[in-house]
Amino acid sequence: MAFFSRSLIRNLIRNTISSSSKPFSSSSSYHLNGGSSYMRGAVFWEPNKPLTIEDFHMPRPKVGEILLKTKACGVCHSDLHVMKGELPFASPCVVGHEITGEVVEHGPLTDSRIIQRFPLGAHVVGAFIMPCGSCFFCTKGQDDLCEAFFAYNRAKGTLYDGETRLFLRSNGNPVFMYSMGGLAEYCVVPAHALSIIPDSLPYSESAILGCAVFTAYGAMAHAAEVHLGDSIAVIGIGGVGSSCLQLARAFGASDIIAVDVQDEKLQKAKLFGATHTVNALKEDAVEKIREITGGMGVDIAVEALGNPKTFLQCTQSVRDGGKAVMIGLAKSGAIGEVDINRLVRRQIKVIGSYGARARQDLPKLVKLAETGLFNLHSAISRKYKFEEAGQAYQDLNQGSIIGRAVVEIM
Ligand SMILES: [Zn+2]
Ligand SMILES: [Zn+2]
Repeated sequence: MAFFSRSLIRNLIRNTISSSSKPFSSSSSYHLNGGSSYMRGAVFWEPNKPLTIEDFHMPRPKVGEILLKTKACGVCHSDLHVMKGELPFASPCVVGHEITGEVVEHGPLTDSRIIQRFPLGAHVVGAFIMPCGSCFFCTKGQDDLCEAFFAYNRAKGTLYDGETRLFLRSNGNPVFMYSMGGLAEYCVVPAHALSIIPDSLPYSESAILGCAVFTAYGAMAHAAEVHLGDSIAVIGIGGVGSSCLQLARAFGASDIIAVDVQDEKLQKAKLFGATHTVNALKEDAVEKIREITGGMGVDIAVEALGNPKTFLQCTQSVRDGGKAVMIGLAKSGAIGEVDINRLVRRQIKVIGSYGARARQDLPKLVKLAETGLFNLHSAISRKYKFEEAGQAYQDLNQGSIIGRAVVEIM
């Protein structure tokens, strides 16, 4: 219990200094008032082994961080890449990076303005790129390039002091965190990655704002810079691809072409705003896109699979001067080809995009969902219980999830 008492003392000191009128209202009150000392989390041990549910010590937030009671966590291909050993990541780790939750504790010495913005009991959504707020890129407003996030979280599986917040109950061994390690009953998130969600938005559906919709928004707003009337092709209609379709419609795109190899996904794509669909198993996707656009090619093509073949198709689908936006993560070391002379002569722009900017963009996504411009309900096709997390990833791996699935951790 030693680790409780240190933060308790710090909090009492801070509370006494900052607010003598409500000395027990903040921070560690969750624990002080008899909250749990342990929690469960879904652990990835090594490639192609099933996730197991393990008991953990309750994670402790540090300065600028918030402990959430996790409510829902989306099921995303990036986790699957890690679980299949295609993207190297520190292990054992808790995967899951697309979450909603309730604020239950603030890290000691956290800025009072952060505590005011995210009070105890607040409903929040977390972005998978968790900006540190003070590195070279964060100070330029480019949260999506945060150095600390890539150097610590993606490279080492920790938060930005180089340490994980997750320790097994059985032996105290550290377990790493893919983003916040969202497939657990509680998670620690840097406050800069969070945005409040209103009561009108449900926890389960809103989870996808933190990765699928977030990634799609970054591609549309920052990489493609979609304008009214643009024509757009989206290759790969999974959770991110279908979010791209919805945002293309919200941004006022004219022709919205969905490309996939499953008719079921293409059928659903029409609900998300696709004006045309192309089954790339039955037709030549590039030829068909050119045909739909009067021989020109689209203004913007988005590749949401992370596959060298569709990478090439994406660059071939855009008109002269068009933008080919790449958002699908591939196997580590995968190489994409592009016709160099066409790229040079016809000014093809190939743009990579990884997520969006949490502090600027996440509140906008919440608004889009709140006003119905982005339909969260239609985006979620399946819900799993926490105990079924392993099954959820198996289903994702088999391609049997249309749109996005969410694990509910109530
Ligand atoms: Zn994701
Ligand atoms: Zn940063």
